[in-house]
Amino acid sequence: MNYQKILEEIELEIQGALEHGKVADYIPALAEVDPYQFAMTITLESGEQFSVGKSKEKFSIQSISKVLAFSLAIDIYSTSLYKRVGVEPSGSAFNSLVQLEYENGIPRNPFINAGAIVVVDALITHFGGNYAALEKVMNFVREISGNADLQFDAIVAKSEMEHASRNLALAQLMKSFNNIENDVHDVVQTYFRQCAISMNTQELSRAMIYLAFDGKDPISKKEFLSEAQAKRVNALMLTCGHYDASGEFAFNVGLPAKSGVGGGIVAVVPNVMSIAVWSPRLNSHGNSHVGTLALQLFTTKTGLSIF
Ligand code: GLN
Repeated sequence: MNYQKILEEIELEIQGALEHGKVADYIPALAEVDPYQFAMTITLESGEQFSVGKSKEKFSIQSISKVLAFSLAIDIYSTSLYKRVGVEPSGSAFNSLVQLEYENGIPRNPFINAGAIVVVDALITHFGGNYAALEKVMNFVREISGNADLQFDAIVAKSEMEHASRNLALAQLMKSFNNIENDVHDVVQTYFRQCAISMNTQELSRAMIYLAFDGKDPISKKEFLSEAQAKRVNALMLTCGHYDASGEFAFNVGLPAKSGVGGGIVAVVPNVMSIAVWSPRLNSHGNSHVGTLALQLFTTKTGLSIF
């Protein structure tokens, strides 16, 4: 298949859609990003990459980082983690509080904010402090991407900390149910720093290829997760990776994938490739409008979906 040609066709076809949607302005630092940008990269088993658009431009990976933290946490906690966070789609917005009260402070899944905050809390407990936990997440992303230079953007993290009321409320509510073990402020700050990791589509697509190959990176040959663990991460990306639009995303795209409010989406085609796409404007569910469209075009043109 001529992947470069397919990506170029997609880049042309999405042009008219670049003005639809809205950048995430509840994090002021993200609102400053040029909303008309687009990039897409695929990484194959051999390490070969194909890209279009601004594939070297870094952006805030935001909720895509929840996959990294969860991958680390399941390796440490195994099944005991599921006492604190479920594995069901929520059908609610990523930052919703409502269900959490009804369900006694146990978030539906690790990819909504409440669930990701619990995962960060579990990492802080395990590694003995918020800085140690953040360092482990950073080292994990550096290792899976083979890029020791990756950093989080302190300006984005600070900007989000200044507008943290809702995430602090989620964490406080869970603390009232004894489902947060550490200081709420520390947990939320660590979560924001993790969300503020900066990567471009080339780096992100390269980093996530372990999930396309049963937890084992086919390029570095390092095993980051067992086959059973990788299956679980992919299942959660398919069912929960796009919040209350996860069904629609599976319906239109048909791949396990995770989005972030920075406008990035990563998707995996099992045993074939990993894909990263970025365009900052979001739909009403907080997922990249053009990113979703580009992935839909990709699976339609190539027939590469899991269904
Ligand atoms: N840091 C963001 C938040 O907590 C992440 C949300 C997202 O990417 N969906 O609101």
